[in-house]
Order: sequence, then structure tokens, then C-alpha cells
Amino acid sequence: MTRATRARIDTDALTHNLTRVREIAPDSRVMACIKANGYGHGLLEAAKAFRGADAFAVACVEEALELRSGGLGHPVVLLEGVQRGSELSALRENHFEIVVHDPSQIELLESADTRVRVWLKIDTGMHRLGFSPEDASAARDRLLASGVVDGELRFMTHLASADLAGGPPETPEQIRRFLDCTGDWSGERSIANSAGILGWPESHQDWVRPGIMLYGVSPFPDRTGSEHGLRPAMSVTTELIAVKEIPAGARVGYGGHWQAPEPTRMGIAAIGYGDGYPRHAENGTPVLVNGRKSQVIGRVSMDMVAVDLRQHPEARTGDPVTLWGEALPVESLARHAGTIPYELLCGVTRRVKFDVD
Ligand SMILES: *Cc1c(COP(=O)(O)O)cnc(C)c1O
Repeated sequence: MTRATRARIDTDALTHNLTRVREIAPDSRVMACIKANGYGHGLLEAAKAFRGADAFAVACVEEALELRSGGLGHPVVLLEGVQRGSELSALRENHFEIVVHDPSQIELLESADTRVRVWLKIDTGMHRLGFSPEDASAARDRLLASGVVDGELRFMTHLASADLAGGPPETPEQIRRFLDCTGDWSGERSIANSAGILGWPESHQDWVRPGIMLYGVSPFPDRTGSEHGLRPAMSVTTELIAVKEIPAGARVGYGGHWQAPEPTRMGIAAIGYGDGYPRHAENGTPVLVNGRKSQVIGRVSMDMVAVDLRQHPEARTGDPVTLWGEALPVESLARHAGTIPYELLCGVTRRVKFDVD
């Protein structure tokens, strides 16, 4: 049996979302974040759809080289910089830009005979990567003295809680710390991820760094992409491979996690956690059968998931099932599965066939 499980990528939607970023942050340049295989959409497919961006951001040299092999000559920023001397020749040959967030990277650069564009990362409260505001000035002095910095040094920070709108005051505090720290220095600045772009206009600065919103998905837990004028670009579909009636009291799936309250018509859809559909999707997680609302019943298994067909007397094997997409926001699945859309988008496995429109 050939597997019907598919992820469709709508590249027009991707391009539309970049246009939305430009509308929302009209005075900023755009560094499109396409790390992790373009958030699961395909690195080159995403990059080509975002070819109007001013730069791309990726996590590592491997991802950056894939962009060059794919014929994209844009500026590319390595968000975690480099860790070893063997990476320096790739920087030189491809003009990759690097984030410097740790003293070991400055040491590495001091021993290099190359010039590279550098973003100095300042840790204003995320406590993941970057120099504290107290250490940033010394790091900057050292970088400038090293003679490796090509052009003007640039500055960035990353927001930890910008998706918690109306929440604690961390975001304005982070923005203030960053601007206080870098205020006297000349050089371009970047703060905003998607949540900053959508929720905190004062974070826009010279460069914005959208990720999730470019894929049509909201960074906020209680919103969806379409509420921000974004178009979801990935839809995941499969089909019913079995349809049956079970008696009242029958239990469905591993562990008998769902029990039929009445005689129940149900179906089996060909998708499971082996495809990236989350095992933690609870009873009642929405799916669409023939475009109409249905729900998951019982535990998700590796290759299959059971769906409730009590409201779908017409459903037959071979009928389409949508797990997420334009008509069923991935944000909603994420809520029912105790995760975030980012993880679902990145997690579609290789077994799933990708169709790029
Ligand atoms: C991934 C990433 C972004 C984009 O974040 P989104 O929440 O997806 O918009 C921005 N900046 C840095 C440093 C990142 O690692």
C-alpha cells in the first residue's frame, strides 16, 4: 500500500508572509530565519520563497553551505557563530556573517587571518547565549582590536518572553538594557523575533529576525497566524485506511485510552508519531475528515490514529483527513498536544512526502 501521508508547502503563502513582515516593520531590514530546514518546510524551498529578504539566518555552517549550493548568494548569518578553526575557511569563501556570543569565539577569531562580518550578541535576560551588558564593552574592544571585523560591528539580543503579551515586564526591560548597553556605539542593531515584530514595535530597530511568522503561524499561544494577516504555509494530510462500527463500551487504541459511550462509527487515518503527528495529541484533538470537523480518539500510534466518525456517516476508506493546515491551525493542534507549533512544523519526518507548490 502506498502511503498517502503528505505535507504540502504553499510557497505563495511563504512569500506573502514576508510581505506582511515588511508591512509591520517597514523601517527595518529583514533577516529571515530558516534554520532547522526552514522550520521543517525545506531549507531551499523556504529560502527561494523568501528571496526578497535582506539576509538569511541559520544555526550552523552546514545549513549555510546548503544555501550556497542551492545558488543563493544572500548574506547569511550563523546564529551560533563558529566553534572551531576548521569552519573559518567556509566563512571566508562564502562571506558568511557570524554571531559572536562567547569569549572562546573571540579567541578563535584572534588567531584567524580572515575578515568577517560580526554580530556581537548581548544577553539581556534570556540567559542562553551572549555577553552580559557588563562584559559587552570589553568583548567589543577585543573584537575591534583583533582586526578581523569586516565593516562596522553589529549588535543583537534575543527576547525571552515577548510571546507573553500583557505578561511580566521582561520584554521592555530587555529592550531597555540592550539600548542602554549599545547606545553609545555606532553599528546596526537587531532585537525582534516574530513576537517582537508583532507585539513590541520598539524592538524593531535596524534589523528584524522573523521565524515562525514567516511560516504563517502565530508566536502567541492564544492567537493564530491568520489573526495577524499571515497565511499558514504547511498542511499535513492523509487518508482513512479503515472505517468501522464499534459497540458501546469498546475501547480504542493502546491502553484503551478512549471508550465508546455508544455504538460508534470510527476511522483509522494513516498518520502517527512516526510521521511527526504528536503522540500526546489528546482525546478530542481536532482533525478534519472530508474538510469537516472530527476528533482524535484513543492514543496516537506510530503509523495510525483513530478518529471519531459519529458525525460522518458518509465517510469511506480513502477519504482525506487533514491534521493541520489552512482550515485547521497548527496552533490548535499544539494546544491539544501540550507542545508549540514550532516543534510540530520541525518534526514532520522523512517518511512524509513533501509537495511544494
Ligand atoms: C530562531 C530565532 C529567531 C526567530 O524566532 P521566531 O520566534 O521563530 O520568530 C530570531 N532570533 C534568533 C536568535 C533565533 O534563534
